[in-house]
Amino acid sequence: ETHKLQQLKHSKAATVDGVAIELMVNIEQPEDAIHAVELGAVGVGLFRSEFLFMDPDQALPDEEKQYQEYRRAVELMNGLPVNIRTIDVGADKALGAGADLSQTGTSPLGLRAIRWSLTEPEIFLTQLRAILRASAHGQARIMIPMLAHVQEIDETLRLIEKAKQQLHQRGQAFNANIPVGAMIEIPAAALILPLFLKRFDFLSIGTNDLIQYTLAIDRADHAVAHLYDPMHPAILNLMANIIDQAKRANVPVAVCGEMAGDPGLTRLLLGMGLTDFSMHFSQLLLVKREILKANAGELKTHIPALLMAFEPEEQASALQHLLA
Ligand code: PEP
Ligand code: MG
Repeated sequence: ETHKLQQLKHSKAATVDGVAIELMVNIEQPEDAIHAVELGAVGVGLFRSEFLFMDPDQALPDEEKQYQEYRRAVELMNGLPVNIRTIDVGADKALGAGADLSQTGTSPLGLRAIRWSLTEPEIFLTQLRAILRASAHGQARIMIPMLAHVQEIDETLRLIEKAKQQLHQRGQAFNANIPVGAMIEIPAAALILPLFLKRFDFLSIGTNDLIQYTLAIDRADHAVAHLYDPMHPAILNLMANIIDQAKRANVPVAVCGEMAGDPGLTRLLLGMGLTDFSMHFSQLLLVKREILKANAGELKTHIPALLMAFEPEEQASALQHLLA
């Protein structure tokens, strides 16, 4: 069984009806990219860069150190894209020594991710320069977590331009056309998606947080863990809507939250029209096996009924065709 699964490494990810699927990997350290290459992934869909900042005994990595780490991931991927997500510090992830975290509360609604980066522009610019310098060695891309407000988008894009200008003045190499993407993980972002489609080169749905914020369930609070439900009709409607709008606008959209790595949900996501998945490497071949068996066109026909199914029996019935 394991042996058979390993053989899937070499087959192209496509559905029975010929829809090509991009399978990417989520990483926390540059070396994790080795797994991505081994498994035949077509890129790193999410590099959680905050893991470079979380050692409690270490000062925050400076530009040079970060550059070396990002460059290593990009070089290991040998020309394939690496989405480097800027620091996503927050309730579930504390930064190491040297960061002023007095203001980052423990609330998931607090000063976290891009909100925090925008209050620490020097730390943010340092990270952006390091990513940009890595982009001279391969396909580094910038991905921004937790955006919701147009002012945050404007300020983020302005700082990216400023980082480019700083490198230009220093005479250092970078990809001036580096793709910039946004994570869609706050319902407000999903509800104003045309703005994101206009401003960004690609989108990635962070279902872990999208579920948290849509259902008002703190991811870290065990007392409400039983209400954390990826199959809530509100979540399914939001996701189907995001994927549909992005496809129509011809903007690449991936899912990089846990849902993408659950082989039980692969058929559902294919039915929604998803073609880009990013997940922990341990899930990749399991998801690929589902893809190779699936008929995307057929799955699609069951989505409208699912999205209107608010009663549990209705949903169960619609899901019969969509779950593995
Ligand atoms: C997500 O929110 O789904 C996501 C991929 O990011 P993280 O789990 O790091 O918040
Ligand atoms: Mg998230």
